Amino acid sequence: MSSIHQLSQSLINKIAAGEVVERPASVVKELMENAVDAGATRIDVSVGGGGAEMVRVVDDGAGIAAEQLPLAVASHATSKLSEADDLFRVATLGFRGEALASIAEISRTTIRSRTPDSQGGAELCVVGGKLEEVTPCGCPPGTSIEVANLFFNTPVRRKFLRTTQTEFGHVSEAFTRIALAEPGIHFTLRHNDRNVFDLPACDAWRERISKFFGRPLAECLIAVESTDGPVRLAGYVADPSQSRGNNKMQYLMLNGRFIRDRSLQHALTEAYRGLLMTGRYPITFLRLDMPPEMVDVNVHPTKLEVRFQNAGPLYSQLLSTLRNKFLTSDLTPRVRPEGEDPSGSHDPARAVEMRQELVDWAKGEVAAWKPSGDRGPSTAPAAGSGGGYSRSKEPLQLSRLDRPWTPPPGETPEDNPQQPPQPPSEAVVGALQIHNRYLVTESEEGVTIIDQHALHERILFEQLRERVLTEEVETQSLLVPEPVDLSAPEAAAAMEHRELLAKLGMKIEPFGGDTILVAGYPAMLANISPAEVLRELLERLVEGGKQPDRTDLLDDLLHTIACKAAVKAGDRLAPEEITALLGQRHTVDDAHHCPHGRPTALVFTREELDKRFGRV
Ligand code: ADP
Ligand code: MG
Repeated sequence: MSSIHQLSQSLINKIAAGEVVERPASVVKELMENAVDAGATRIDVSVGGGGAEMVRVVDDGAGIAAEQLPLAVASHATSKLSEADDLFRVATLGFRGEALASIAEISRTTIRSRTPDSQGGAELCVVGGKLEEVTPCGCPPGTSIEVANLFFNTPVRRKFLRTTQTEFGHVSEAFTRIALAEPGIHFTLRHNDRNVFDLPACDAWRERISKFFGRPLAECLIAVESTDGPVRLAGYVADPSQSRGNNKMQYLMLNGRFIRDRSLQHALTEAYRGLLMTGRYPITFLRLDMPPEMVDVNVHPTKLEVRFQNAGPLYSQLLSTLRNKFLTSDLTPRVRPEGEDPSGSHDPARAVEMRQELVDWAKGEVAAWKPSGDRGPSTAPAAGSGGGYSRSKEPLQLSRLDRPWTPPPGETPEDNPQQPPQPPSEAVVGALQIHNRYLVTESEEGVTIIDQHALHERILFEQLRERVLTEEVETQSLLVPEPVDLSAPEAAAAMEHRELLAKLGMKIEPFGGDTILVAGYPAMLANISPAEVLRELLERLVEGGKQPDRTDLLDDLLHTIACKAAVKAGDRLAPEEITALLGQRHTVDDAHHCPHGRPTALVFTREELDKRFGRV
């Protein structure tokens, strides 16, 4: 082995560059951050060839004095920190003093700068880390830094560059993260000779968001805000009709810096639990502001990740702020007029499907609805009034709908099972059942189409969860316990989660080998064989055992039971059953989505109907 020796400054810079400058987008990020730190009110970014050929950032900020130019590109030279303690109260985006040194080491960098009080500017060129003479030049106050031929002297890195389009995609994302955080600064972005963004300064954050992601999305945003001691959370979250297949649209700004934080992302997922389908991610724009000493930003070379002094309370604050907001918001998805799809990547197939539903409904209505007297079409037909309403199957048990969780008579004194279903809090006009799966009702706003299974499932889920929390789940005891043969992992999971199962009303005993005795099971599932219920729950447990989160597991089991107990798509409902189901709609916290996150109802507004029928 060769002897140990000190590395040259140039090699040190190249190594640092490896961490800081991954691709052209990193240059854009560092230069833009410097401009923001310099107090600029306008920042113009222009790139050529995806940024690999050229990146130029021009600002009208504080500028750099001529004699300081060489220091700006020296490593570990910064104007933003002076003593060690400063490191723990960083209020600027930069502080490490190595970005310009790193960038200048692996490119041809030209800096032109002028401080507001000097007569003229000065220029410094650095080629592959070699400084040329500082020369006077004419330029407006502020700084312009041009970085050309990135990685020209590190060919291996150059090889890692992707297509111009991909690199520009990254540049654009870097630009977005900074421009989103600073709506008070005018930003522009050009690629080759194309103007990509021109974002004048604005007061309202929603306006900046809308410039990036379009007005329809911005209009679906719900404002959230909360304060916990010195920590302030504010911003917008999209209503659940808007979501993405990944978490890229979760913008979180910590003291003006875009960050990624797994724990806070998890809080977002939790907040939207039950509102979004699995595999979908919420869209959020949030700012978190706190005293700089409460967070360590010096844990990641590009400062994308930070370490909070106290992460627990932040998690809770985020989760509860969003949850509380959702509980008080009407989240029923609106069906938008054609061509006004709020999310660019929204599934067009779904829109077609929804339109088809409307058409099907209209057709079905004509075929099945026989007016009696002069009732308007918004009134539900009485039982047996129309040919299409004769029961084709076993009648449904009404009790499944109107008293899903009343304990058996006599157990609670205040309960009277003879009582008719509680009248709903809002007058239920009645509804038309179509295709044995949807309920169509007239509402204040227009027409609401409800998915009977999804709604019932949601109602049962919430009731069951409530019961589990207060330990009141009803168990149907079996006179003769039923033995169920299981696979070894299923039997093990059953015994391991015996208490959890008991909470859900599923009482089991070991019987020897891989056989389990079911002694009692959830009364809600009276129509289904105990063995089937147990197997279904165990399937969840065996799958879910891999994810350690207990709330996830419990929710999963609750979903399974609610789903099994709910009326199915295809079940013909009697008018009283429809009334009972709609009556309970208002009793649950979130009647807008089933526990799997599918919407339970769609609203076609009157406006939308008028528009489609060409009335407006
Ligand atoms: P850092 O931002 O971590 O301090 P940099 O290498 O990015 O390190 O920049 C070094 C120094 O150069 C900064 O501390 C700042 O004083 C100066 N500087 C860089 N860019 C600008 C700019 N656009 N306007 C004014 N000063 C700048
Ligand atoms: Mg910097």
